[in-house]
Amino acid sequence: MIPPTFDYLVPATLPEAIALLHEHGDEAKVLAGGHSLIPAMRLRFAEPSHLIDISHIPGLDYVREEGGFLKIGTMAREVVLEDLPWITERYPLLVDTTKMIADPQVRNLATVGGNLAHGDPANDHPATMLAYRAEIEITGASGPRTVPIDEFFTDFFTTALEHGEILTEIRIPIPPARSGGCYLKVERKVGDYAAAAVAVQLSLAADGSIEQAGIGLTNVAALPTRAVDAENALRGQQPSDALFAQAGQLAADASSPADDLRGSAEYKLTLIRELIQRALRRSVERAQGRS
Ligand SMILES: Cc1cc2nc3c(=O)[nH]c(=O)nc-3n(C[C@H](O)[C@H](O)[C@H](O)COP(=O)(O)OP(=O)(O)OC[C@H]3O[C@@H](n4cnc5c(N)ncnc54)[C@H](O)[C@@H]3O)c2cc1C
Repeated sequence: MIPPTFDYLVPATLPEAIALLHEHGDEAKVLAGGHSLIPAMRLRFAEPSHLIDISHIPGLDYVREEGGFLKIGTMAREVVLEDLPWITERYPLLVDTTKMIADPQVRNLATVGGNLAHGDPANDHPATMLAYRAEIEITGASGPRTVPIDEFFTDFFTTALEHGEILTEIRIPIPPARSGGCYLKVERKVGDYAAAAVAVQLSLAADGSIEQAGIGLTNVAALPTRAVDAENALRGQQPSDALFAQAGQLAADASSPADDLRGSAEYKLTLIRELIQRALRRSVERAQGRS
């Protein structure tokens, strides 16, 4: 289908983009990589009157460590994360996730900010940012504000972004020594959204026990899901198969998947139980420098 007509606006600065959002009201939308919004417009799920393309605003596509955080500018495209060796070395969960998103053509344009701002529980970055305990910087007419990732996804396809606001930065706390993470996803075919996927990020204490654990789940509920009980069960414990099986069950208990074309709810719960165990094993290996 062809999208309905719209006006296309190309601001040169962030304040200009925010002013345009205010000027054109609720029907105006930010355009980043366009790989969720344009398909939605072609299906007429979204019918914005104005598209405000932020991709020509300089300085929104950085990836750098600063002030205790990995800072990702909203317009950083997936392909950039794949190609930075120091990101691969220090943020394996992030790189695992990026590489599982769609295909190289999509990743050449899709942005990390757009992946989160879309609020789709089937997207892969939300679970990863939950596991990392990321912060989201949102900028509006009165300046920037910071939202913890736990408060960012508020409903199905809905986030803490208010009209007239732009997601400007994602902040991941720099993991301490002896940290590891992993993203595992089951998809029907390469490039598809997840039937179910898990993001695990953990750090180990000097005695080998699990000091911190973050677990996010993809596409098993109306919102990206954090498996809090599973995280709590892991903290302070020595890694073991029995502990990982318990965490897998607790993560499945936190999920409420639906039957759909990607599988039955029961199948997805089985995936979560199994993927969590595998992801925990690999994350511990990475934290120990063995993988
Ligand atoms: C064939 C195909 C397969 C895909 N498979 C996957 C997959 O496996 N996993 C996955 O996670 N994703 C997948 N995607 C989605 C893809 O990763 C999207 O590009 C991504 O979800 C959105 O990023 P974008 O930059 O393209 O955002 P856009 O499409 O430009 O925007 C998406 C939404 O977010 C809003 N928005 C964007 N940026 C901002 C901002 N900075 N501030 C405020 N609002 C903003 C827009 O207004 C729009 O509502 C797939 C897409 C395609 C086309």
